[in-house]
Amino acid sequence: MNARLFGTTGIRRIYGSDFTLDMALDLGKALGTYLGGEGNVVIARDTRTTGAMVADAVAAGLMSTGMNIVHAGIIPTPTLAFITRDRGFATGVMVTASHNPPEYTGVKFWRADGMGYTPEEEARLEEIYYSKRFIVAPWDKIGTASEIADAVDQHIDALLRACDTSQIRARPPSVVVDPGNGAACLLTPYLLQRLGCKVVSINSQPDGHFPGRRSEPDEESLVDLVNMVRATHSDLGVAHDGDSDRVVFVTETGEVVRGDRIIALLSREILSSGSSNKVVTTVDSSQIVEKTVESAGGQTIRTPVGDIQVAMKMREENAVFGGEACGVFIFSEFSLAPEPFLATCRLIEMMARTGKRLSELIAQVPAYPLRKTKVNCENERKAAVMERLTDTLPKAIGTVTKTLTVDGIAVFGRDGWVLVRPSGTEPVIRITCEATTEETVEQILQSSKRAVMEAVASTR
Ligand code: MG
Repeated sequence: MNARLFGTTGIRRIYGSDFTLDMALDLGKALGTYLGGEGNVVIARDTRTTGAMVADAVAAGLMSTGMNIVHAGIIPTPTLAFITRDRGFATGVMVTASHNPPEYTGVKFWRADGMGYTPEEEARLEEIYYSKRFIVAPWDKIGTASEIADAVDQHIDALLRACDTSQIRARPPSVVVDPGNGAACLLTPYLLQRLGCKVVSINSQPDGHFPGRRSEPDEESLVDLVNMVRATHSDLGVAHDGDSDRVVFVTETGEVVRGDRIIALLSREILSSGSSNKVVTTVDSSQIVEKTVESAGGQTIRTPVGDIQVAMKMREENAVFGGEACGVFIFSEFSLAPEPFLATCRLIEMMARTGKRLSELIAQVPAYPLRKTKVNCENERKAAVMERLTDTLPKAIGTVTKTLTVDGIAVFGRDGWVLVRPSGTEPVIRITCEATTEETVEQILQSSKRAVMEAVASTR
């Protein structure tokens, strides 16, 4: 039995031990075979030190099956998704390990319609990869290779067309951008500049060693950004992960804002003008999303974690907007790929239109206390533990208004909720709780933890 190649979002492994160049070559051959050995594929990468080499190996594999390849160089993942659709490529290949540490590499695939490969499509690709039955093109049918250099410019042009530039230019904010030495170095500062913003950047030279900070943007890794926003008296801080499919915002007061609060804030705006009233988010988002969407006359749909899960559900439900708390935002008017750049434009638009600062706008979306913990549990016991918890977890919470089993078990009460999920990578079960008060969140956390520990003990 072969190990699963794909995780929640593409392939992501440590280069040299879990991921080799031979694998990249075979992935290229498998993709070429999957696509029938005919047509054009665009390949891009983030700033990782292994990127150019892995991209070349994937490209060689593709060409050996007869596919033509086009190198787009270092660009953000959303830009790759954008040009895949915009220029009619059969598939887009992004060589990236997202926000993982620098020794990781990986590959993520994008469909001709600009959405990521679904788990089913990944499974078919994986089957071909392991079968090693690849198309072998003869010497006179080998694919061609070429390059494009204007993908970022095209993406910026499309973003400018999608937003109200005159409103922003009338009241442009000052922004500090922290691309974290990732692919957004090449896009965000220039997009904001063209919107008339005063832009200061930190960690903005592309560098796959990620010397500036950890690639995952969170409160802990964004200390320098927060300090710079305060020191320069800027209106906004904007940070990205390594491949720039995420964005995290910092208020002018230096608060790092959770992504689900931004989902709620943007939802209100989008629902007031949108054609559909549905918003999609993952099971681990704050209940403030439901509350805000509901009060704007909309409906929230929850999915398993992973941006492809959000995109698939948005397509199925014809939803107008979707996102993840970690900083993923998807606008169906634009595409079904994460659009951190459009999210930035929309936020700046809102600031310009209302004349309010981000701290004032976000104050309208309460931040509820959130707590996380984990309980050790051997991998082989996880299924039995989760089975038992479907019965015992709701009892531990008391008054239950709703339970969701799309990904782990989520139980919602009147004043809070808990999500219990087995980790996909470690022998632990993760518990996330949120409630309207500190006292309630602590109660939910303790009773949930007890229920999980009892369930683990009962399966021994
Ligand atoms: Mg990413």
